Order: sequence, then structure tokens, then C-alpha cells
Amino acid sequence: MNRETVNFLSSHGDVSTEARFKDITTIKMGGDIAYLVSPFDMNRLTMIVKYLKEQDIDYKIVGRGSNMVCGSLPYQGCVIRLEHMNRYHFDDDGELYIEAGVMAPRLANVMAAQGLSALEFASGIPGTIGGLVYMNAGAYKKSMSDIVTKVLVLIDGETVWLDKSELGFGYRTSIFQSHPDWTILACKIQVEKAKPEVIKALIADRLKRRRATQPLDKPSAGSCFRNPEGDFAWRLIDASGFRGYRYNGIEVSSKHPNFILNADGGTAEDFIMTTNLIKVKVMDNFGIDLIMEVELFNC
Ligand SMILES: Cc1cc2nc3c(=O)[nH]c(=O)nc-3n(C[C@H](O)[C@H](O)[C@H](O)COP(=O)(O)OP(=O)(O)OC[C@H]3O[C@@H](n4cnc5c(N)ncnc54)[C@H](O)[C@@H]3O)c2cc1C
Repeated sequence: MNRETVNFLSSHGDVSTEARFKDITTIKMGGDIAYLVSPFDMNRLTMIVKYLKEQDIDYKIVGRGSNMVCGSLPYQGCVIRLEHMNRYHFDDDGELYIEAGVMAPRLANVMAAQGLSALEFASGIPGTIGGLVYMNAGAYKKSMSDIVTKVLVLIDGETVWLDKSELGFGYRTSIFQSHPDWTILACKIQVEKAKPEVIKALIADRLKRRRATQPLDKPSAGSCFRNPEGDFAWRLIDASGFRGYRYNGIEVSSKHPNFILNADGGTAEDFIMTTNLIKVKVMDNFGIDLIMEVELFNC
């Protein structure tokens, strides 16, 4: 840990040198983080990224860590969280401008109360708007690509608006996945008016369906594998005999076999052993190469 770096980061954000990935990811795994910083605002974030690049310090943006599995070894770089970048407002063009650190479920509920429809599908996705754009997250046949019109991005020290046509959106993918050094600062989404009670009822219905089908009582990173074309990852995992499978602290959910849970002190290493075994068996049984949706980091 370098005192000069801590001093610089502290003058632009809240800093911890004692954080662990297990405290900032939903699956609750992962080792020590050398520097964790939450920049005070967008300008401070820009300055921090510039400094880290100049000092050749590795960095990683983490939203709510709800799609990440992180290794047990210490990470010598800097994790940047955007919890202070949590503002949103309507623009002159009638679109909603949202900073990247806003939590999607919270915003979906605020919008519902105001009769603003767009984010209902994301009301149960426990991530930030930046993370949802990065993943083109979706549910119930809707995804971010249906509502996002532009994204404000930090690229090589410049802030640039990218149009939807430039975002490379596809199933759980976006251009950002091939540019890990770009930082999503904010986005604009299209919003429609609807009756608050109608939006609230839709959200309640979606959450009820989630609770009925997903193991929300144990730590996870959501769906582990992407669904292959024309099939479901959970079906292939189930048909390969993994429903309820245990390996050390890892458990393949009995309720939804595409959820790989941290049942009891599981590590990323256990997680990788389990997912590799699933991949091999599914390949043997069905000739299908399951692709991870969850991101492995520092593993
Ligand atoms: C219980 C549960 C249910 C889930 N249900 C769904 C679902 O229905 N649909 C779905 O699509 N997903 C689902 N997920 C997965 C996850 O919530 C989404 O992928 C979400 O988009 C991740 O957001 P996050 O802020 O947590 O991102 P993180 O997990 O923190 O980060 C994911 C990636 O995005 C990058 N990133 C995050 N913010 C930025 C930024 N501002 N700039 C640049 N890069 C950034 C990170 O560096 C990382 O590479 C679920 C997860 C859980 C735990």
C-alpha cells in the first residue's frame, strides 16, 4: 500500500485499504483489495482514473458486484465504486438521464410511484445502471437495449456520448465488454407514462415470479451461464445431473440449477471447479459449450 496513492484517492473520494471482494459482491467471495475508492462525483472519478493510469495501477469498476466472482488472492489494484454517482433527472428532450451508480431496483420503484414506465423488468436485478448497461441486463423478454438511447463514457480521459447504434448490444453483451478500460458514467433512457398502480402491479408480479423460481435466500451472482440458442442453461445442467450438487462450499441450486450458490464459505476456486465440471458434462451429453454469464475476476 502506497501512502501517496491513498492521499490522492482520499482527496477525491471515500477510501478503504481494508476492503475485501467478499464484502462488495453478492456471492460474497474474494480476497483483499489494496485500494477501494468511491469518487465524490463524475469529475473526481475522471481524475482518479487519469491518476491510476499515470501511476500504472490496475483498476476495476465494480457496481454492486452482482455479476462477479472474485478470487481469494489479494488484488493489488484499485476498485472503484460509483455509489456517490447516484443522481437522475429529466433532460429537455424528455429522456431520463441516470448516473451509472444508481441502483436499478430503487430507481424502478421511484419511477413506478411517479407513473414512469421503462425499468419494470429490472426491478429485481440487483445491480447499478452502469452494470446493467455493461451486461445489457434483462428479464421477461426486455433488456437495457430496449430503453437506452445514449451512454456517456469516459474514454482515454475524454467524456463522449455514444449513441445506441454504437453500443454493440446483443444478448447479455455490449461494446463495453471488449473495452474494459472504458468507464460508463451515465446513460439516457426512453420513458413512457403509465398509471402508477399498473406499473406497481407489474413489478409485484415480476418479484413474486422471481421469489418462486430463484434461490434468493443464499448468496449468488445470478444466472451462471448464458442460455444457448434455443435452449436453457438450467435444463442442460439439470439433465446432466447437477441439481443440488455440492462441492466444498458451493451448491448448484435445487430450485434453479443455473444459480451456483455460495452455500457455506465457498471460494472462487471451488466455483471454477464446479463450473468446469458442469461445462465438461454438458459438452459430453449435448455437444453444447456453455458460456459463462458471470465474470471471473482476479482468479
Ligand atoms: C439474485 C440475482 C438475480 C439476477 N437477475 C438477473 C436478471 O434477471 N437479468 C440479468 O441480466 N442479470 C441478473 N443478475 C446479474 C446482475 O445483477 C447483472 O448482470 C447486473 O447488470 C450487474 O450489475 P452490477 O452493478 O452489480 O455490476 P457488477 O457485477 O459490479 O459488474 C459487472 C461488470 O460490469 C462492469 N461495470 C459495472 N459498472 C460499470 C461502469 N460504470 N463502467 C464500466 N464498467 C462497469 C464491471 O467492471 C464488471 O465487468 C442477477 C444477479 C443476482 C445476484
